[in-house]
This record gives sequence, C-alpha cells and structure tokens, in this order.
Amino acid sequence: MPITFLDFVKFKLGERDEYSMEDCASVGVALIGSCQVCSATLSIANGYPSRQGYWRCADDIGDDGFATVAEFIADAEGRGMRGCVPTKADKIEAAQARLPSQMVLDIARAINQRRQETRDIARRTVIWLAGDMAEVLYDNVPRFRYDDFYEACGLFGTDVNEARDRRPLD
Ligand SMILES: [Zn+2]
Repeated sequence: MPITFLDFVKFKLGERDEYSMEDCASVGVALIGSCQVCSATLSIANGYPSRQGYWRCADDIGDDGFATVAEFIADAEGRGMRGCVPTKADKIEAAQARLPSQMVLDIARAINQRRQETRDIARRTVIWLAGDMAEVLYDNVPRFRYDDFYEACGLFGTDVNEARDRRPLD
C-alpha cells in the first residue's frame, strides 16, 4: 500500500503514542481531511496523499499514492500539496493553535464534572472554538463538510451559525 499521512507525520516527528493537531500542523498536515473522490472523512491514519494533491481514502487511492515518504516530500516540495501541505498553512496553524486538543479535553472534562452553569459555559466555548476552526478548514480543505467535522468533534447537530456567532460568555 502507498503511504498514509500518518507515515509522513511519523517520519517527520518520530514514533509517538499519538499525534495532536499541533503536531500535525507543525509539519503542514491537517489532522482530518476528506477523500477527493467519495468525500469520506479521513484521519491521518487512513488518509493517503495523492499525486493530485488531495486526500484519498484506501479505496480510492489506486495508483495515485506515494510508495515512500521521501517520494511524497519531494513531490509536495516541488509543487505544494492542496489539502496536504496547505498553501495557507499559516492560517490553519493559527486556527489550530486556538483549539489545542488538550484544551478541548479539559473543557470536556469540565462539562462532565461541574455544575450546570459551568457546563453551559464550557459547551458554548467548545462550540465557539470549533466553529472558528471549521471556518478556516472550510476555506482550506477541499470538500470539507461542517457536519462531518462537528460529528468528529462530538458536536453533531450543532448549528453552524450558532457556532460562528456565539462567543463563550455571551
Ligand atoms: Zn474515497
């Protein structure tokens, strides 16, 4: 099989138990993407960089993938990879920095442990941050879908406008 984005991230950062959004952003890769062909939501573990510069799933990568990480890097550096090493990497990094995965986990913990009022604030914070990040991903990731993103965040059914407009303490 061709390499996945996970192979690339491992090559760049070394073997780790898991890789955060910040880890991925540091090497120019988004943590999630979607297949250019079937629009399936993919993680770095099951997303394959293709020669077209888009993410592909295992079923759709065909002969368009890269046999080695070195081959992928040479190609990506040669012409830039849409959805892989994003042309607006700085924007994505900025958005990911505003939504550190550890912070989301802390807030999720607060949602489960604290009083109702705290839960409401925490939930609005998560929705607001997720909405902010979704906006940037929408602009930069081909075939990005809000529903898939919110589902991946455990926020399925969240209204996009609510996410965009509601600041945590409003
Ligand atoms: Zn596919």
